[in-house]
Amino acid sequence: MRLALILLLCLTASAEVVKTPFGQTREGVSVEQYTLTNGNGLSAKVMTYGATWTHMLAPDREGKLGDVLLGFDTLEPYLGEHPYFGVTVGRVGNRIARGRFTLDGKTYQLAVNNGPNHLHGGLKGFDKVVWRAEPVGENSVRFTSTDPDGSNGYPGTVETTVTYTLTEDDELRIDYTATTDQATPINLTNHAYFNLGTPASGTVLDHGLRLFADRFTPVDDTLIPTGRIAAVRGTPMDFTRARPIGSRIEQVGKDPTGYDHNYVVNGQEGDFKPVARVVDPQTGRQLEIFSDQPGVQFYSGNFLDGTIKGKDGIVYRKHHGFCLETQHFPDSVNHANFPSVILRPGRTYRTSTVHRFSVSH
Ligand code: BGC
Repeated sequence: MRLALILLLCLTASAEVVKTPFGQTREGVSVEQYTLTNGNGLSAKVMTYGATWTHMLAPDREGKLGDVLLGFDTLEPYLGEHPYFGVTVGRVGNRIARGRFTLDGKTYQLAVNNGPNHLHGGLKGFDKVVWRAEPVGENSVRFTSTDPDGSNGYPGTVETTVTYTLTEDDELRIDYTATTDQATPINLTNHAYFNLGTPASGTVLDHGLRLFADRFTPVDDTLIPTGRIAAVRGTPMDFTRARPIGSRIEQVGKDPTGYDHNYVVNGQEGDFKPVARVVDPQTGRQLEIFSDQPGVQFYSGNFLDGTIKGKDGIVYRKHHGFCLETQHFPDSVNHANFPSVILRPGRTYRTSTVHRFSVSH
């Protein structure tokens, strides 16, 4: 009985959510940061600006905790232009060709913010708004936001929730929901950049990557899918067996060099399934990703060019971090052969992604 009580006390003391102020936007709106800690000592920080995942402390082989996310120490640089470090991306993550699509007979022109295309929700996407936040359950924070009709050119008012949970199984889980009052495309994801050696260690080219994907969607020069679904076998795109990210990166033939492609995750859309496994050979840190999404954008930090100084003053150079953005395929609104991203009134969009941290010996 006494033992049970002590155990119960330990458990309740271990998982906790702590809220701290994290500055103000340029319009004077307060931004808060929430720290989630589990009983094993792992901790994650998320903030209300952009519903952003800012920190993730995970142990290495020796049990030493290190922050595996690229980002900033303070709010200020998040408020300016940055390459979407850890943010929630929406209303539609990834690219829409020329920012244009036709839905139910009506053509919409969205904001164009990436060469000729629309990227990650437009000029003021979900990454650039202050979300409402409330701690829920044991070790979770739920962010909510209302995106008005016409925002970035999209039809319908959309209500979105993004819930971050740190589990006792060392998983950072992200659950998304959205509803709308008019038909609209939705494609939500998180844009975390990981470096499992911690960013101080240099690039991620030696990280071993396995992708549970036999196919990918080839792209044109502006990174818009051609519509073809191609096999990875026999190409530098093949990560069906674990291999270092850098092993064939020079052969990908993009400018700047590197991976920036949507992979078609094996299995049924909607089933919760393994997406990726990444191991840093130096520290042994391992990240496994699971999701119900049909695709994942593997981006090897090609556009990082040494102009950004991140946490602890570390300069982020090319391939300093990798992203694995679970998602629907890019430009789905313009490809009838891709799974649909259209949400209609009366339906609820739901998706979840789990990031499991462990050590490979
Ligand atoms: C895109 C990259 C882009 C990056 C944002 C990724 O999702 O695929 O092309 O540069 O986001 O910085």
